Parts: sequence; C-alpha cells; structure tokens
Amino acid sequence: MADYYELLGVPRSANADEMKKAYRKRARELHPDANPGDAAAEERFKQVAQAYEVLSDPEQRARYDRFGEAGVGGASGGPNVGDMFGGGGLGDLFDAFFGGNGNPFGGGGGRGPTGPPRGQDLEVVADVAFEQAVFGATVGVTVRTAAKCDDCGGSGAGSGTQPVTCSECNGRGQVQRVRQSLLGQMVTSSACPRCQGLGQIIVTPCTTCNGEGRSVLEKTYQVDVPAGVDTGSTLRLTGRGAVGPRGGGAGDLYVHIRVAEHERFVRQGDDLVAQLPISIAQAALGTKVLLPTLDGTDEQIIVPAGTQPGKQFVYRHRGVPRLQGRGRGDLRVVVDVQVPTKLTDFEAELLKKFAEARGEDVGVSEGGLFSRIKSAFH
Ligand code: ZN
Repeated sequence: MADYYELLGVPRSANADEMKKAYRKRARELHPDANPGDAAAEERFKQVAQAYEVLSDPEQRARYDRFGEAGVGGASGGPNVGDMFGGGGLGDLFDAFFGGNGNPFGGGGGRGPTGPPRGQDLEVVADVAFEQAVFGATVGVTVRTAAKCDDCGGSGAGSGTQPVTCSECNGRGQVQRVRQSLLGQMVTSSACPRCQGLGQIIVTPCTTCNGEGRSVLEKTYQVDVPAGVDTGSTLRLTGRGAVGPRGGGAGDLYVHIRVAEHERFVRQGDDLVAQLPISIAQAALGTKVLLPTLDGTDEQIIVPAGTQPGKQFVYRHRGVPRLQGRGRGDLRVVVDVQVPTKLTDFEAELLKKFAEARGEDVGVSEGGLFSRIKSAFH
C-alpha cells in the first residue's frame, strides 16, 4: 500500500483539520457510489479510509511515522470487525508483531501508558422498505453491544471505591527491562503484567460488571438512511460500536443496508422501472393509464395506438435521488402486452371475426393447415 500521507495528499506535517479536509475530498471522489463498477476506485477508497483511520489517531499516527505500515497492523483494509470481547485492536496486532516487547529498537521511553483499549467495531444489517431507500428515512437498528456499566461509570471499581495506581508500573502501564544483547545493553518496555497496561488496579471490582467496566446489552440506534441508498450500501456510525473495557473508547458501528423488493418497481441504478400491463386491444387502439408512483402522485401515461410490447416511456428525473450529488434518475415504464388466456364464447367470436377481416388463419384444430408467417403489423 502506498504511503498514507500520499494517499490523502497531505504533507507529513499536516494537522488534524487539514487531514480531515483532505480525507473528505478524497472519499467523495472515490466513493463506490460515485464510481459504480470501478474496482480500482473502490480499492483506493478503502486504502484512503485505512490511511485516515490511522493518521487521524495521534497514537497510531506516531506508530506509523516510526514503523510504517507494520506498526499499525499492516494493510488489512476495511474495518476491523470481530466479536466485541474477542480479538483486539491494532494495539494487540502491534504487540504480536513485535513479540509483545513493544519497542523492538531499544532506547527506552517511547510509548507512554497505552490506556484502556478501544471497543470493537460492530456490524448490523438494516432492512429498509423500497420507498425508504429511495427517499431516505430514519430506521431503528438493534445491536448486541457493550455499553459503559452504569453502576461504576465504566471504571470497573466497586461502589464507593476508586481504582488505585498500579505499584508495578507507577501508573505508566509500561515496564522497562534492561538486558544484555549482542548490540550491548538494551532497554525494552512492555505492557505492565500486573495491570495489563492500564496503569490502574481495581481492588474491589464492581459487582455488576465484575470489574470489566461495561456490560453486554441490546441497544437500538436510530439511523438516518440517506435517499438513494441501495442494497450493499454501508453506513458507518463513528463511536456507536462496543465500548472498550474500563472506560475505553467505543468502536464504530457499520450498518449494511438491505432493501426490500417492491411489488411494482425495480431499481436499475438510479432509474426506477415499472411494468405497464395492457391488453392487446389497448395496445392496438391506444389508451390512457394512471400509474401510481412512489412520490404518491399518479403519472398519466398515454399509450398511443399501435404500441408494441417492450415499448418504454421515459419520465426524466422521476427516478431515485442520486446518493452522491444532485438530481434524480429517470422513471421508465415498460409496456407489457398481455394476451388473454381465457375467452368467453362471445370474445372468441369477436377475435375470429377480427382475424377473418384480416385474412388470418386462427385455431389449432386437427386437420387444419399450417400457414406461412406473415407480418402481423400492417
Ligand atoms: Zn461496573
């Protein structure tokens, strides 16, 4: 993966604001909805998101500056999603990469207390009605998540008590060891084994959360679904994932949109497509039809005499609002000429007369002759 600063198009000295601006601009240009079917743009979009995720976090940025991609978990791409208590954040990956010794290059100092780890990212599927996807809506999604424990405020300490500073690391969360190596004396630092890098010890754990500082529960979030989403769109709600243990920050919530089918309309990109069933008589003689649209108004459709099956009527800008940008797609109405399958004797008689008038052979009774194909349209 290319250099994160280059991906965002900012100098290495860029501050948080400049980075945010650059990220928004890039993300807009590269968003999959703005580049449908462009795999290269999508890949780049993911890379830019990964770059911003790292560089927008001061601690991760410092690691990236020092160790490059290896320091921030490599080119995993996409969200780091797992079950909320299992796995770990990028910090764990970092430690695994360097065998848990934190700072592989000696020198001491370096990292301060790591603090409680951030919670997991979560994923949820939001089922939305066809109209909601077209016009936008607020929908509730329910996730099983970890939330801050009310009884201890997330500290994990039992009521009336406070966490105490870890005596092993004096609250730094890191311990340093001096060892001899081929290169001479080396100082390595690693997460304090007594407090697991948190810098604090809980003497009397909160009985509600057993000192975890969080509890698992179901939460319902109201999600603003923008007009124009489709199945496959994903919304990211920053900070709506699981909270970390002992007051650690929250992960993000990824909401995958799944759009229900509609009885009358289908989506083709930003176009809405509807079938218009008419009879052979209506197709031949013409007719006027009111088509109920998603807007709640009726579209007046004039079907001229002699309309063929498959004929499309296009109504500009009556389709789906564009997710990235202005305007709407078109409404396309496709004529579906329906041949009657059940005729009364009277109707059959009329059709035979019609065929006779045009000199057409009709009927499939035995002994009848096969006729050559003639153009039906004259
Ligand atoms: Zn608690």
